[in-house]
Amino acid sequence: MSSTQSPVRSASRAGDDEQRGTAIAVDHLVKTYTSDHGDAHPRAVDDVSLAIEYGEFFTLLGPSGCGKTTTLRSIAGLEKPDSGEIELAGQVVYSSRSRINLPSDRRRIGMVFQSYAIWPHMSVFENAAFPLRVEPRGRRRSERAIREAVEEALEVVELTPFALRGATQLSGGQQQRLALARAMVAHPQVMLLDEPLSNLDAKLRDSMRVELKRLQARSGFTAVYVTHDQTEALAMSTRIAVMNAGVIQQVDSPRAIYEHPANAFVAGFIGRMNFLTAKVLAVSENGEDGVELTVDAGVGVPVRARSAQRRSLDEEVTLCVRPEGIGLLPPRESSTGHARGTVLSVQFLGESTEYIIRVRETTLIIRAEASVRFERGGEVDVEFALGGTWVVGR
Ligand code: ADP
Ligand code: MG
Repeated sequence: MSSTQSPVRSASRAGDDEQRGTAIAVDHLVKTYTSDHGDAHPRAVDDVSLAIEYGEFFTLLGPSGCGKTTTLRSIAGLEKPDSGEIELAGQVVYSSRSRINLPSDRRRIGMVFQSYAIWPHMSVFENAAFPLRVEPRGRRRSERAIREAVEEALEVVELTPFALRGATQLSGGQQQRLALARAMVAHPQVMLLDEPLSNLDAKLRDSMRVELKRLQARSGFTAVYVTHDQTEALAMSTRIAVMNAGVIQQVDSPRAIYEHPANAFVAGFIGRMNFLTAKVLAVSENGEDGVELTVDAGVGVPVRARSAQRRSLDEEVTLCVRPEGIGLLPPRESSTGHARGTVLSVQFLGESTEYIIRVRETTLIIRAEASVRFERGGEVDVEFALGGTWVVGR
């Protein structure tokens, strides 16, 4: 493979034909850390497989300690896995079976971490140039080529006017953009971003999210993004892999993850959710959106809900309902299909109002438009609409 004209290289350049296919393939990756005493810990990454397409903004999402960083560092070649295989742009960079483990600097990746590690004694320009200055002798570029590459990278992150400043004279957001420029300067095929925005304040974080997406659109790199922030993941990703305890729970589009979580962990981790213990009363076949069920969730009326999997009659399941997936109506004489509840609390949130409603033995969090108004202590009819309900296994 020619190193200057590889398809990988051209894929990272804006304006070139879009590449199709798998940019990153992770196959049955396992990584265990051993303590200083030699005892094996539980698997930090436990049989993770992923196929990430060119140009994706792919997010690893999960709680602290679930194995996101270890997965990312294994892709980068900074961590040696126990077993499995990793391919970048069709090239095997790690394989336990074939005993391949390409060093990090030969994997053509850019990396940005939470602590963006800008060198304070260097100028903005020299910070961005650094990866090119430390390239192996055989590959090192001319001073002119380095200058061109750095100027291009600084322009992309809009730091051109700051090139000659000391790096510490930049604001937090600018320093993070500089870290991005440095990661992109060698036109990596893949950008690995490990919680890169978590050190920024909330407002800056929001604008950097937009910035990052813009950068990606412009440079065309494939991004693997790590975060424990579900809002960030939902907003930025083409697809999300939700992880827990080293295991991938679900890989899907943000919308599918939110609306059709694969299990109770995903449902609870992504946004707020009401969980109701339920029993299947009826099953009817359905189309693309899965099976349609009628369940008894202990609210006094049968509730219709969809499920990705077939369920059997009388099976115990968990009914998941988002706070915004429940309707509130004034109580009616004959409220067929509606459950009757009592308003325990009302919290006005501006564009919406959050209610806590008691229905028999169940307490529900319900988010309604601000125009909907009920008083604390009053009665309401609660409507479970198909589309707002979802069933997972117990
Ligand atoms: P995340 O990035 O999702 O927070 P990590 O990949 O950092 O998770 O960690 C996964 C698991 O591996 C955790 O239990 C963590 O304590 C452990 N771990 C991570 N790095 C090391 C290390 N260098 N030595 C020992 N255990 C580690
Ligand atoms: Mg981490």
